[in-house]
Amino acid sequence: MTPAEAKAVRDLLTYYVEAGVDTALDEVPANRFADQAVAAAALPDPETVAAPAVRPRELRPAAPSVAPAAPPPLPEEAILAARAAAKSASSLEALRAIMQDFEGCALRTTAKQLVFGDGNPQARLMFVGEAPGSEEDQTGIPFVGKSGQLLDKMLAAIGIARADVYIANVVPWRPPGNRDPSIHETQICLPFIQRQIELVGPQVLVCLGKPATATLLGVTEGIRRARGRWLVYKTDTREVRAMPTFHPAYLLRTPIEKRMAWRDFLAIRKALGD
Ligand code: URA
Repeated sequence: MTPAEAKAVRDLLTYYVEAGVDTALDEVPANRFADQAVAAAALPDPETVAAPAVRPRELRPAAPSVAPAAPPPLPEEAILAARAAAKSASSLEALRAIMQDFEGCALRTTAKQLVFGDGNPQARLMFVGEAPGSEEDQTGIPFVGKSGQLLDKMLAAIGIARADVYIANVVPWRPPGNRDPSIHETQICLPFIQRQIELVGPQVLVCLGKPATATLLGVTEGIRRARGRWLVYKTDTREVRAMPTFHPAYLLRTPIEKRMAWRDFLAIRKALGD
């Protein structure tokens, strides 16, 4: 490859990464143009089909000025399917297998793999984050990137090893380009994390950051107000003490808040009673 070609490749890769395309899903590139050509060949010949009567734009009635469209309805079918599937899991391993096969959430098609959970399946302390990032997508393990390393240090600071807790995410597939999961994606995945919490059966549940706090505890105020308060997370069969705290990614960006996170972790340690 000439230096000019190498530079062109580098520039292209930089462009991809900036556009959010940072993961290769397959060994071999897919030729979507060829797919389109096949699909187009299956369409009726435009020459033999009567052209639709399209009125010039100026003759069309003006679009009524209405409030912005309401968000599309929740994908009820996928949510119902997720609920039924999650309920049918009688163990964490069964739940993992069910999620592996679940096709109701489109994120699975762009993620490299399912990021199910990590740690002690009978842990007394469970953490739930929002969704996997790039490192988690590569490894299939939640919280292994920079945020995860900080979480490990915070746990060590209160004398708890990562291997003794259980860690998962509300959404178990990485959203492309690390965008936030949509409301629909979150709602589809919710029955799975709810079942995961039930199956682990922790004594204390910690929601990392606002999205996990809002989804699992129904607290929609900012995390700076919500953090550090003991709340209740209800499963079908029992109540779990739950605390929202800062997401480690936020602490990496805002280290001054580590003071408050430290208070939360001390309270968590105390709640475990040892
Ligand atoms: N952030 C999350 O919310 N979850 C992870 O697993 C990693 C980063």
